[in-house]
Amino acid sequence: MQGGAVLEIDLDKITFNSDQVVKRCQKKGIDVVGVTKGFTAIHQIVTAMVEGGIQELADARMENIVELRKRNFNQPITLLRIPRLSNVDYVVRYADTSINSEITVIKALADAASKIGKVHQVILMVDVGDLREGILQEHVLGTVEQIICLQGVKLVGLGTNMGCFGGVLPSVDNLGLLVELADTVERQLGYKMDIISGGGTSTLLLVENNIVPDGINQLRIGEGILLGTDTTNNRKIPGLHQDAFRLRAEVIEVKSKPSVPVGEIGRDAFGNIPQFEDAGIRKRAILALGKQDVYIEGIFPLDETLMILGASSDHTIVDITNANQDIKVGDEISFGLIYPGLLSASDSRYVKKLFKRRKQ
Ligand SMILES: *Cc1c(COP(=O)(O)O)cnc(C)c1O
Repeated sequence: MQGGAVLEIDLDKITFNSDQVVKRCQKKGIDVVGVTKGFTAIHQIVTAMVEGGIQELADARMENIVELRKRNFNQPITLLRIPRLSNVDYVVRYADTSINSEITVIKALADAASKIGKVHQVILMVDVGDLREGILQEHVLGTVEQIICLQGVKLVGLGTNMGCFGGVLPSVDNLGLLVELADTVERQLGYKMDIISGGGTSTLLLVENNIVPDGINQLRIGEGILLGTDTTNNRKIPGLHQDAFRLRAEVIEVKSKPSVPVGEIGRDAFGNIPQFEDAGIRKRAILALGKQDVYIEGIFPLDETLMILGASSDHTIVDITNANQDIKVGDEISFGLIYPGLLSASDSRYVKKLFKRRKQ
């Protein structure tokens, strides 16, 4: 076997989580867009989502969207990162919809779409507090007026993003504000928006508590479906699988060593000055896994008695002193993943992907 680290993907669990999320949202009149950027749109996983009832897809990268088209995913696809001005021709060709906040870009999309006889759909992003993308509320009316005059684009909705830069939680207030803004547009300009897109996984809590403001009719869900977690609200989502993904890596050394290095301490391979606490002699395993494979802070040992001590490009050192099982060279240690772990492992060519599917 080349490489060594294996990302195990339980497709049944992805399908199950998708189905659950879709059903919970459907009950409140909310469509779920399945977000594929957390796993570089690996097609087997996308298929598992579609089998769970996901009817629309979204990704932040055009490369992933083009790949989905090549694989014959004919679902509506939204580009979830504001298009680059230099890339609009590509965007209108492969994506049906994009999220936007810059009128210059929207005009360029309109021109590019017109040139090929298409109408590109635009969701106008409004910043209701998280301070990532989006126009400010006071600019909504003016911007909408400009967009609806353009040929080549159709304004299909307002959207907002939460819990990304500022960590702001979606709430009855900030999502209510989005709905109100859409109402204002309708009243003042006589233009009705089809979609009011109220964020991602972090909004599922409001769905579960039955307090999503009326009018919100779309969510763009990645993390919840993939990992069954909601990092922004720091919770596991009840009734979803948290273990659809597992990372396994092979042990290449087991030794008992002091917990404090011997010698003058310089910088580590990544330029940091490491700090050590003296815990005496500890039993440690070295894994054939490193920062080149995965963002080490994004994984956690499934055996809770193990502790990751550190990692360099190609090695990860785990304290196994209190391990539940005897760990030997050649054994594998399994890890769960959080979002950045999944993101990096999916994209690493050194990490083998292994798909599990029981139901056919
Ligand atoms: C990544 C992303 C999402 C999905 O977020 P999750 O927390 O993974 O559900 C939704 N909307 C936008 C704009 C995104 O960039």
